[in-house]
Amino acid sequence: MTRATKIVATLGPASSDPDVLERLLRVGVDVVRLNFSHGKAQDHINLAQLVRSVADKVGKPVALMADLQGPKIRVGKFVDGKVLLEAGQPFVLDAQRSEPGDLQAVGLDYKELPRDVRPGDVLLLNDGLIKLTVEVVRGEQVHTRVVLGGVLSNNKGINKAGGGLTAPALTAKDMDDIKTAMAFQCDYLAVSFPKNATDMEMARQLANVAGEPYRHKTALIAKIERTEAIPNLEAILRASDGIMVARGDLAVEVGNAAVPALQKRMIRMARELDKVVITATQMMESMIVAPVPTRAEVSDVANAVLDGTDAVMLSAETAAGKYPVETVEQMAQIAVEAERAEDVKLDADFTAKRFNRIDQSIAMAALFTAHHLGCKAIVALTESGSTALWMSRHSIKVPIFGLTSQPQSHRRMTLYRNVQPLMMPKMSDRDEALAKAEALLVGLGVLRPGDTYAITCGEPMGHPGGTNMMRVCQVA
Ligand code: PGA
Ligand code: MN
Repeated sequence: MTRATKIVATLGPASSDPDVLERLLRVGVDVVRLNFSHGKAQDHINLAQLVRSVADKVGKPVALMADLQGPKIRVGKFVDGKVLLEAGQPFVLDAQRSEPGDLQAVGLDYKELPRDVRPGDVLLLNDGLIKLTVEVVRGEQVHTRVVLGGVLSNNKGINKAGGGLTAPALTAKDMDDIKTAMAFQCDYLAVSFPKNATDMEMARQLANVAGEPYRHKTALIAKIERTEAIPNLEAILRASDGIMVARGDLAVEVGNAAVPALQKRMIRMARELDKVVITATQMMESMIVAPVPTRAEVSDVANAVLDGTDAVMLSAETAAGKYPVETVEQMAQIAVEAERAEDVKLDADFTAKRFNRIDQSIAMAALFTAHHLGCKAIVALTESGSTALWMSRHSIKVPIFGLTSQPQSHRRMTLYRNVQPLMMPKMSDRDEALAKAEALLVGLGVLRPGDTYAITCGEPMGHPGGTNMMRVCQVA
């Protein structure tokens, strides 16, 4: 059975081996996330190359998502890789420290922290597992007391409860990393901690300039993870190609209990504005160490699917976990089951929508027809992938096939819910292209003699945004 919801998996030590990576792609990873909070530029370049070559070998499109670190406050490294902090002990966050940390103090990536905190502020480390209160700031040192202790390891994040960091969304390191990511032609660029649309516009501009030598443009994902971003959600969406419900940092900033309702609102708003949405963090957290998920995790993944997310994301589960392949396998299975139970309310969805573009209207006509006629497939001949994107903003049980001659669109469509991207040679004759598309789907076993399907294309062929016709066909 085909799965509509996509899986984003983060690469790390547990998944950078070519064999493991190959198995991950085979069991269902659609998008690979390179986390720029860890590793050096050259590591990411090498990993990107590896992902592309393994994807070729497996024979499926895989998008690369470069995820910028952003102004996240992270602790530096420790002499022994980690320390065990005990409640009641003092602990110093030292922006000037360059040597590895110990039980008394640790360095910081984010040098502005001493100016962003005051005595009494609460700092949450490692997604809220460890809690510190600020006692005093002395120069570059933030002196704290541990309230909730635990293991703190290299490069874990720090949040200030309630938000309020002054840092701009793009740091000097991010600007360098954008150049690296554009050099390996990332398909998606995820921007961490944007506060408003301007942050995203700035990222877009930097990415466009960095991509010029390669004639490459990337899609932009805004990670919604700070308090300040919530009131600006609509403007951020309009300035981006998609968002990530970045529950790790978001939960620490807005409080755990506020996140589920925000997740639903973000997913709904993204789809209404024809943007993609990824639900992230701790989805299968217990599988970092256990071969099966908890009941709560199974429900969480299923509910994100029912909320309408394009993709569910794995972080440490695939980057550093013991069971990366099993995690993806089980996540895929949960998604398929949830999709089976999903209600389709296409008519209700449609009555409120207005379309002012020809291509978008054709996309919707195909969707409506395929749904009511019980077609086996919807086929979109698309240069940019936008026809497939519009179609995929509504829940429908009929699978959408996005056929394109553009490798970049082919990879980008891997994130779109219910869209199966396929490559097709560029053709100028409409009837030949339609015949070729049918032959492709028959060859793949998607369509059989007698099956009906809806197909969209543009005439003349090959112009992005040129979709202007739909045809309903029956396989002879
Ligand atoms: P991160 O982003 O893993 O880069 O912190 C995701 C999140 O905050 O949920
Ligand atoms: Mn985050």
